[in-house]
Order: sequence, then structure tokens, then C-alpha cells
Amino acid sequence: MVLRRHNFIILKRKYLIFAICFLLVVASITIYFTAIKPAFSPKPNHVIVIDAGHGGRDGGAIGVSGTTESELNLMYAKQLGALCEEYGMKVVLTRSDMNGLYDENASNKKRSEMEKRRKIINESGAEIMVSLHMNAFPLSSSEGAQVFYAKGDEQGFNLAKSVQTSICSSFKSARDYVTVGDYFVLNSSNIPSILIECGFLSNPNEEALLKSEEYCENFCYSILAGILSFFTF
Ligand SMILES: [Zn+2]
Repeated sequence: MVLRRHNFIILKRKYLIFAICFLLVVASITIYFTAIKPAFSPKPNHVIVIDAGHGGRDGGAIGVSGTTESELNLMYAKQLGALCEEYGMKVVLTRSDMNGLYDENASNKKRSEMEKRRKIINESGAEIMVSLHMNAFPLSSSEGAQVFYAKGDEQGFNLAKSVQTSICSSFKSARDYVTVGDYFVLNSSNIPSILIECGFLSNPNEEALLKSEEYCENFCYSILAGILSFFTF
């Protein structure tokens, strides 16, 4: 009788340990997903321009395995756009396919492309602009996301800080500071604007991550959380 009772206690303890382990696993998964996905409720009426850099004959940077920057910029722009719409924003994309924004007959295609980009951004009626790019550097070990804003754009600086902080909380390789960037797309925009270099295509490991749909979704969630935080404060 004593032996049976002893066995019963051991059995109960096993169930208890199993239940605690199960709860710990469930809690870890919940914490992981809530850390990445922002716990904000949709806030309508915000309009945002998402600019996928390069396009057409201008592929931008080329990855070590041959990935073009322009295709990844578009992949990230579409993903971020879909998430922003999910959270109640109206989204304007500067381009939604692989074609360039320049006029095919223009003698200076770069200027034609930039003029078109500027026109779309400034006529969109949007509150903010986010331009997406991928980086490349001769040193293959360079890695991590960087966020740029135009000199003198105070709100752009606040937006950059908000997005950079959010990216840093999920991606350890990201730079923990924002930088003034002398880019046409930032300088010619008349709304608070940032340019995000999502990572380095010249780094084989980072290129592989940047190409993955899961990484893209998580990265865009962290941009979205930064944007929502900017709109909230
Ligand atoms: Zn670029």
C-alpha cells in the first residue's frame, strides 16, 4: 500500500514536470512571436510611400550568388506594403514590378528615373516615405541594417530613430545609430523620409538571409513596428 502510494506520487511528479515543460515551451513561442510582431491595433488614415530602389536596367548592387538588389528591394517593398495595409495604412509604391521608372526614350535615364520617383513621392499626399535598398561593400564581412535620413529633416530623424531602434531589438547585426545620408530620394522628398539599407549582399551569409521569405517578413515587421511607434508619439 505504501509502495503504491509512493509510485502514485512519483507519477504525479512526472506529470507536473511534463506540464511545466509544456507551459515553458508555449510561453517561449508566445514571447518570441509577440516580440517580432507589433502588438498595435490598426490605426487608419495614415498614408505612406514605399520606394523600392533601382529597377529596369539599373539592378543596383549584385549579391555574391547573383541576386540583384532591385529584385530584393521590390520583394521587401511589397512585403512591407502588405503589412502596412494590414495595420490600416494606405500604401503608395513607387514601383510594383521590375521595370525601371525612367522614360525609355530619355537620353539621361538616371535623371528621368529620379524625377519620376520624386514626382510620385511628392504628389502622393503621404505623410512619410520609406526607401528600401540593399548594401554592398568590398569587405565581405560587412553586415547589418542601417537607416539614413536627410540632413535638416527633423521628423525624418525621428522616424529613422524609431525604425532603427525597432530593427535593433530583433536583429543584433543592425547598427545602433542613424546616419545622415546624401541621397537624391531623401533630398528631393518634401515629407519626412528615411532610406533603409536592409543588409549587405556582399556578405554570403547575409545575402542568404535577405533572400529568405521568413527573414523578409520578420525584417518588415520590425520596420512596421518602428513606423507605428513614430505615428504614436
Ligand atoms: Zn541601392
